[in-house]
Amino acid sequence: MELTKFISKLKKGLKKTTQTVVRISGEALDYTKIKIKISDIESALDDRYMAIGLAIYEDSETTDIDAICAEITELREELNELKLQLNEFKCQKTCPECGRTTDKENPYCPSCGGKF
Ligand SMILES: [Zn+2]
Repeated sequence: MELTKFISKLKKGLKKTTQTVVRISGEALDYTKIKIKISDIESALDDRYMAIGLAIYEDSETTDIDAICAEITELREELNELKLQLNEFKCQKTCPECGRTTDKENPYCPSCGGKF
């Protein structure tokens, strides 16, 4: 594939991913959704790193590297936020008796007093 075509295809893909990220960021996410989003964003970041690498290697003047860098910055912020959310999930456990979620360090359920 011709490089300019490849980069234009890559850019179309990049835009789509960013829109998805923006749309989903407003929702409350569960553990699995967070894991999926993290891997989506990591692969979106890989695409962008590759686009920049290609543009530099081929000395392309049609690729807006600054715009891609701005997207990378946004994606990395989103990624950090999701990783923080994931940590919150990891520091929690669910009571098998009553189903209430509590801190991982807690030896007893604060709701029903059940021992973990
Ligand atoms: Zn309980």
